[in-house]
Amino acid sequence: MKAEIISVGTELLLGQIVDTNAAYVARSLAELGFSVYRKTTVGDNRARLANAVREALERADVVVTTGGLGPTEDDLTRETIAEVLGVQLMENPEVLAYIKGYFVSRGACMTENNTKQALVPRPGAGSYFPNTMGTAPGITFEAGEKRVICLPGVPREMIYLMETHVEPYLRAYLTRSGACEAIVSKIIRTVGIGEAALEERILDLAHDRTNPTVAIYAGAGECQIRVTASAEGEAEAWRLIESVQREIKARLGSVVYGYDDDALEVVVAGRLAAAGATLAVAESCTGGLICGLLTDVAGSSSFLERGIVTYSNSAKRDELGVRGPTLDAYGAVSRETALEMACGVVRKAGTDIGLSVTGVAGPGGGSSDKPVGLVHFGLVDAKKVSVMSARMRFGGDRCSVRVRASKFALDMLRRRLENAWA
Ligand code: ATP
Ligand code: MG
Repeated sequence: MKAEIISVGTELLLGQIVDTNAAYVARSLAELGFSVYRKTTVGDNRARLANAVREALERADVVVTTGGLGPTEDDLTRETIAEVLGVQLMENPEVLAYIKGYFVSRGACMTENNTKQALVPRPGAGSYFPNTMGTAPGITFEAGEKRVICLPGVPREMIYLMETHVEPYLRAYLTRSGACEAIVSKIIRTVGIGEAALEERILDLAHDRTNPTVAIYAGAGECQIRVTASAEGEAEAWRLIESVQREIKARLGSVVYGYDDDALEVVVAGRLAAAGATLAVAESCTGGLICGLLTDVAGSSSFLERGIVTYSNSAKRDELGVRGPTLDAYGAVSRETALEMACGVVRKAGTDIGLSVTGVAGPGGGSSDKPVGLVHFGLVDAKKVSVMSARMRFGGDRCSVRVRASKFALDMLRRRLENAWA
């Protein structure tokens, strides 16, 4: 079964907002087993929207639109699609009562133009999905075997409607049409290996396969591998994925840190919690990003004792006890300074582990022996009385150097915990 997505909104075409709705709907349709062949974006323009819908319906069985269901003049999705399909819209008393109640319960006034949100396809030509998150219901038009589903633009409302109404509706539609092929995918998450090196190690898997397919995506400081399989049933599709997943893990080993939605910081937090280890972080060029990532994880207070941002040499001396002669002889961006930072923060915080980062994020400040992107890392494990250091040269702009350095530091910690604390 083929599906297409149409995002409606001039804001999208002007680049004022990012089309997160289309990504969400695409993922959801793919999980249901649809082949999503095309996404289109159109402004709030009747003629162009009508064209987009007509064309999409020539190719696809199901078309999902988001946006343009609001009460104002420029919200024309509902009327335009009804016109394209030659379907009459009717005011639905239940929807109208709901919209009125929505305003009353918020102590707000309903304006006349809100009543147009109660217009739904006449019986036999479609139906609607009640939207308890907002005023506009979702609408489905049923034209022969084809379906056009219109959802509001507000992401929270769109997601609610997809999860509670559209997914069950489409599942039933697929079952009825006997097209129940299951498509499932697994994401394998890696860190500490570049896209090119990764491709080299699994090139044959990525190229030779059609089912499951293997694709590599480079992200910020990490890469993901998506394995997608289709089969008659979900269980069979998962079996296909499992064998490829095992092969990839065997080839890549410890650069694989997690699967699906696992975030690196969540994995690291889990390892720290499992080990009962406490952590203190001293950051220079990452300016608090590492602690930012770790404190995104709920429960981080159980292992993170403190993070100190020491940007200047004097801060490194005053806060962490980095020695003046070390800074003079080796400079702030050096193995020696990184290690004294890690030792200093562990001493001050009294934690099991101290982690430090110091580098040249750029774009200025680089030199021939300390180029932009050079970052030194220190890790002190007070329990095991051991010290590690690392030196990396990251590419990219300031933002990407900082993100990559943060991910690398977290990965250093992960590796340490997996080897020594497990
Ligand atoms: P409303 O009742 O708020 O007018 P609507 O269904 O008419 O809803 P739009 O007016 O198109 O939807 O969009 C409402 C808001 O939802 C936009 O201002 C934008 O912030 C967000 N939005 C719309 N489309 C998208 C999209 N494709 N991706 C992410 N956000 C979106
Ligand atoms: Mg609107």
